[in-house]
Amino acid sequence: MIAVLKLGTTEKQIESLRQWIESQGLKVHLSKGEFQTIIGLVGDTSKIDEELRGSLDIVESVKRISEPFKSANRKFHPDDTIVKVGDTSVGGNIFSVMAGPCSVESEEQVIEIAKAVKAAGATMLRGGAFKPRTSPYDFQGLKAEGIEYLIEAKKETGLPIVTEIMNAAHLPLFEKVDVIQVGARNMQNFELLKELGRIQKPILLKRGLCATVKEWLMSAEYIMAGGNENVILCERGIRSFDSQYTRNVLDLSVVPVLHELTHLPVIVDPSHATGSARLVKPMALAAAACGTDGLMIEVHNDPKNALCDGAQSLTQEQFSDVMGSVRHIIGK
Ligand code: PEP
Ligand code: MN
Repeated sequence: MIAVLKLGTTEKQIESLRQWIESQGLKVHLSKGEFQTIIGLVGDTSKIDEELRGSLDIVESVKRISEPFKSANRKFHPDDTIVKVGDTSVGGNIFSVMAGPCSVESEEQVIEIAKAVKAAGATMLRGGAFKPRTSPYDFQGLKAEGIEYLIEAKKETGLPIVTEIMNAAHLPLFEKVDVIQVGARNMQNFELLKELGRIQKPILLKRGLCATVKEWLMSAEYIMAGGNENVILCERGIRSFDSQYTRNVLDLSVVPVLHELTHLPVIVDPSHATGSARLVKPMALAAAACGTDGLMIEVHNDPKNALCDGAQSLTQEQFSDVMGSVRHIIGK
């Protein structure tokens, strides 16, 4: 349920309304826009008598929100959410580019790539330390050591770092990580999502392999319901019937759909979506053209010998070329 407040409502009136709503056992989500202040009510609102609420002198109108996602809903928060990450941010007018290797392989490797992607215009460094691999016999990442190398690369370049978490017990290792990634395979690991709701760090929530938009937004809701509103959504392709030429199907239509449904920023990962380096550029440009708030792109200093996802990794030169064309499309 949302209550749109009348123009000229004072802070004191808002505060007493907030206290009253909380005394009804509901959570309050306050959104102060340039022109309107909206109070979102989360919880079982059936107890609240709309007549009574409507008659309060500071409330202009009261509407029920039918979608099951509340905090993530744009109706609760008409303005775009801008997630602050170090000196940069994701959402609003900023176009974010998170680039780097699939997995951190050594300190030298990640520092070299960090410098190159920064020079080409990336705003953040990505790199997997804990890797969710389909086979238990494949390289599983350098784990804590990998995070240390990312922190070194951040010191060298100033780029904020993004890396994936697979187990909430590892959270202490992520203290200096700027954005915690929840991978496609963990999108519905609800216990992990609840833990991430208890912190304030930005969370990059990738779309599950077969997740519907509603399921994805409900996963964001798990994080937000705990009090962490710093959620960034990332489309990375979904499973379909044909994986012969593309690894997944990049669902770009979700970009405008999500911009309608939610205030959270939406970025696109053309690397995992296509699985092929030569398809990354056209899909990155298409994503930029349809309004994504940013991109996540895998870049490697030696793709042929990468320990993970080499086929989809761009060389540093290819990345620089993509960035040039992306800038063209976004006009920056
Ligand atoms: C990754 O970003 O390296 C990754 C494993 O992505 P996804 O969860 O989208 O497969
Ligand atoms: Mn990868």
